[in-house]
Amino acid sequence: MTNIAKVTVAGGGVLGSQIAFQSAFKGKKVTVYDINDDAVAAAEKRIRARWDAYKHDIDATEEQFDAGLKNLTYTADMAEAVKDADLVIEAVPEKPTIKHDFYRNLAELAPAGTIFASNSSTYVPSVFAPDTGRPDKFLNLHFANKVWLYNTAEIMGTDQTDPQVFQTVVEFAEEIGMVPIILKKEQPGYVLNTLLIPLLNAAGYLWGHDIADPETIDRTWMIATGASTGPFGIFDTVGLRTAFNITAEQQGSNPDFQPFLDKIQQMIDADTVGIETGRGFYEYPNPEFENPDFLKA
Ligand code: NAD
Repeated sequence: MTNIAKVTVAGGGVLGSQIAFQSAFKGKKVTVYDINDDAVAAAEKRIRARWDAYKHDIDATEEQFDAGLKNLTYTADMAEAVKDADLVIEAVPEKPTIKHDFYRNLAELAPAGTIFASNSSTYVPSVFAPDTGRPDKFLNLHFANKVWLYNTAEIMGTDQTDPQVFQTVVEFAEEIGMVPIILKKEQPGYVLNTLLIPLLNAAGYLWGHDIADPETIDRTWMIATGASTGPFGIFDTVGLRTAFNITAEQQGSNPDFQPFLDKIQQMIDADTVGIETGRGFYEYPNPEFENPDFLKA
């Protein structure tokens, strides 16, 4: 058993809200911190809306779900949020300026012993370690979307991360029901995204250049590999804001990806960003790709 009892999750968006509730569901006392009252209210709404998923996907009982909700508190005051945190998990937007500023503020407000972990999908921890004021207590702890179901937690430190801190975070991941995936060195994209991002980029390229439509691309992948979801189903799960940010950051200067970025920007403007808004490339619940006919000729 680790001594991590109080967890603060910074950023209550798609992933932060999931990490916060999963930790609370497994008995941790969790504070959700976000930038303002509206964002905090949106985070609480996201969390409460996950009851169906916990019931349907992992057979959680209402009592268990409610006990999880009782372990949560919410605030837009960073000092209040982190004042006695054992662990702060950062899930703020995938934009380096936001993350640098976040860690500089956090370094001043959190107790010296607090461990910081970033859920960043694309930045290795050494990018933000100098901002933390405690590089020995900083690493990345990266979850997959739908944490209660797709329960990998990739753990990646820097040369400066204290091995004891690394081990504590591995054990914490187990305590909240994750399978820890240990990386022996820094790798942008970890294991999962080193595999996944080239697939999503290729799908974006094919659609962006009107070579094939999203359903055709997904059907190809699903029929040929036996996968239960294709790349556009994955985009809907990830959420198009994050998909846009990652593609713009990595491929923004590559004209091959501009048509894809333009197309998803239109979808973001129309608030069709994926499962979260009930509509993205597919409509939810019951997206077309889950219909057995989707894979037939
Ligand atoms: P999101 O846009 O859904 O949520 C970001 C949240 O951070 C919002 O609630 C926003 O109000 C809040 N925020 C903005 N600035 C902040 C600040 N300065 N302090 C605190 N909160 C702030 O994004 P997301 O998809 O949840 O991604 C968050 C992080 O998780 C990113 O680093 C992303 O790479 C990572 N991640 C995302 C996924 C995914 O599938 N979406 C998977 C794994 C990791």
